[in-house]
Amino acid sequence: MTLTNLIAAVIAAFAVTQLAIFTTTVYLHRALSHRALTVGDPAAIPFRAVIWMTTGMRPREWVAVHRKHHAATDTADDPHSPFQVGFWRVQLGNIGLYKRCASDHANVQKYARDLPPDRLDRLAFDHSFVGLAIGITIIVVTMWVLGFGLFAGFLAAGLHGVMYVMLSGAINAVGHTRGKQPYVNSATNMQSLALITAGEGLHNNHHAAPTSARFSLHKAELDPGWWLVRVLVKLRLAQVRHEDVHLKTAA
Ligand SMILES: [Zn+2]
Ligand SMILES: [Zn+2]
Repeated sequence: MTLTNLIAAVIAAFAVTQLAIFTTTVYLHRALSHRALTVGDPAAIPFRAVIWMTTGMRPREWVAVHRKHHAATDTADDPHSPFQVGFWRVQLGNIGLYKRCASDHANVQKYARDLPPDRLDRLAFDHSFVGLAIGITIIVVTMWVLGFGLFAGFLAAGLHGVMYVMLSGAINAVGHTRGKQPYVNSATNMQSLALITAGEGLHNNHHAAPTSARFSLHKAELDPGWWLVRVLVKLRLAQVRHEDVHLKTAA
């Protein structure tokens, strides 16, 4: 493998991961889990397709795990608390912790009752392996057509998987242990993490104001996910529930 092909694989993996991260934060997290914004079908269906092909996850399961995290933050019932199971177990084993909670039907029933499977789920989006197979095929064929070879395509797909899992782990592990705590809750703000996780690193702000579509609440904080929300609103593809920030806890 040439250096050029290797660099191309890393760039492609980074791009696909960012696409998945932006979709996760704006659609799965801010829109579906917290109803901080409403997204109509013209944007929701592409978002669902991206999640399906880049992660294989089912939105209602992600929502159930996440709402349980907010309902039981850093207690024994939290699906992924570094205080309960240790920093490295969450950072490196987040996928296992996620799967354990997501595959528990009772959790999904309790926390995502408002998101029953629809026709598109039954037809396509509930079939995780089909989505992942299509996603990997798109990456491999694109890299091959661009002249970087088949191996670079498979490498890009693999690297994307590792990056997405590690960044998701970092939001749950680093985002509850390291960084600033302007509000009284167990989560933390880390701007550097926020820049590579489409704003999710401003996790202390988010726990303080979960229904805010904007995670940047102080001067000089940057929330790339909010920039995408603003573009969607401008294009009339989404509506923000409330522009003013409703704090849950005192500053
Ligand atoms: Zn949290
Ligand atoms: Zn949340």
